[in-house]
Amino acid sequence: AFDVLVVGGGPAGASAAIYAARKGIRTGIVAERFGGQVNDTLAIENFISVKETEGPKLVAALEEHVKTYDVDIMPLQRAVGLAEPSKTDSKHAGLIEVKLESGAILRSKSVILATGARWRNLNVPGEEAYKNKGVAYCPHCDGPLFKGKHVAVIGGGNSGVEAAIDLAGVVGHVTLLQFDTELKADAVLQRKLRSLENVTILTSAQTTEITGDGTRVNGLTYTDRVSGESKHIALEGVFIQIGLVPNSDWLKGTLDLSKYGEIEINHHNATSLPGVFAAGDVTTIPYKQIIIAMGEGSNAALGAFDYLIRQ
Ligand code: FAD
Repeated sequence: AFDVLVVGGGPAGASAAIYAARKGIRTGIVAERFGGQVNDTLAIENFISVKETEGPKLVAALEEHVKTYDVDIMPLQRAVGLAEPSKTDSKHAGLIEVKLESGAILRSKSVILATGARWRNLNVPGEEAYKNKGVAYCPHCDGPLFKGKHVAVIGGGNSGVEAAIDLAGVVGHVTLLQFDTELKADAVLQRKLRSLENVTILTSAQTTEITGDGTRVNGLTYTDRVSGESKHIALEGVFIQIGLVPNSDWLKGTLDLSKYGEIEINHHNATSLPGVFAAGDVTTIPYKQIIIAMGEGSNAALGAFDYLIRQ
């Protein structure tokens, strides 16, 4: 059995594993895809102290760092269930169980959940083909790449409107497209958005295609849902802001999740289940970034260690 078992191998999980292993306790990390979302990132310019890097390069560095410690890495494994220590099975008393898709059961005195999140895709032609070539999901990450240019934000909820306000300060012009007849964001955000001169708001607009020249995005086609007309806008970037989904489906019913499915945590990154901690994009922390996920991962490992020495 492990002392600390980390589920998830993104920045949060890798950081948690390193911090746990440095305490000299038995540490394991089980991950479907080591590196997580960082694998899908091209340019990273906000990982402080590294001016510029690329996702796959950072993933390789993460893996190398984890491997310098005595961490049992179990890649390409998907966790499907979490259970509190059995009250009847005395052989495994006090051990939390993580069930894998393969049928195997891993046992540990403490568990750190770091299964991350995924951006909801629009699922229109051009989106997949132009990812990282004009199609973006994170304004904090990619906004500055579009300095002075015309971009679209798709989504009229809080994240879409926040992204449009944020981008309007960096890019040349922002067109916000909302599928519904009205914006859904908080009134204060809507007021701020409407006060900006370089923002156009289109409601009842269904994006049907992201167009490009074969190398980069050059526009977007949408249907005006009132007139039924199809229209095209020339632009250089499209930020899709229709939701970030936490990878927590497999935990439903076992611990407290927010209404968005994020794992509820306290300042020690402890969840509602004793001995179970969580970190990174899968949790209720408001901002989802690599450097934040790493900080949260280390905090969760220290929280787990503190828990273990009190048992
Ligand atoms: P993730 O990176 O999502 O990792 C989750 C891990 O859990 C993965 O290993 C996954 O395989 C595993 N997993 C999930 N479910 C299971 C399961 N059931 N069983 C086992 N393993 C499981 N942030 C920045 O700071 N700067 C940027 O420039 C930047 N650009 C981005 C660009 C893109 C295209 C995207 C998608 C994100 C970007 N981000 C950026 C955000 C950043 O990648 C995330 O905030 C960060 O990766 C979150 O780390 P995490 O460890 O919490 O989760």
